[in-house]
Amino acid sequence: MLQLPHQPLQVAAVPPQRTPAREDQAGPWHSEAVCRRDEAGLFFAPSKEPTAARLAREDSAKRVCARCPVMIECQEHALIQPEPYGVWGGLTAAERRVVLARRRRREMELKAASASSGATERVAAAG
Ligand code: SF4
Repeated sequence: MLQLPHQPLQVAAVPPQRTPAREDQAGPWHSEAVCRRDEAGLFFAPSKEPTAARLAREDSAKRVCARCPVMIECQEHALIQPEPYGVWGGLTAAERRVVLARRRRREMELKAASASSGATERVAAAG
């Protein structure tokens, strides 16, 4: 079975409803993850973590991500899955929600623009 990045922490710190990526969705990037042995516990919040401690821990996790050779793949995995908890690909869960909301809005704008341009072409073709 393919092991996910920073998997050892999931046992202790990740809420039980978090489900790991299915093996067929996991990519070869997992084997290159810098956080495979997250012994410092940087990537997932322990329960009842104070805000200042969370922010400091997330900053430390992001610094690890910044030197990770598979940051882009990891980030995209966490966005597509989507992973609801933890730092993945240099983004916190809240930051991923913002990225996803922007993507959805951009897709809607593109669809609206495409529909609008199609209607204009139909009107022009009809004379
Ligand atoms: S980008 Fe960060 S969370 Fe993702 S595999 Fe690398 S170190 Fe782990």
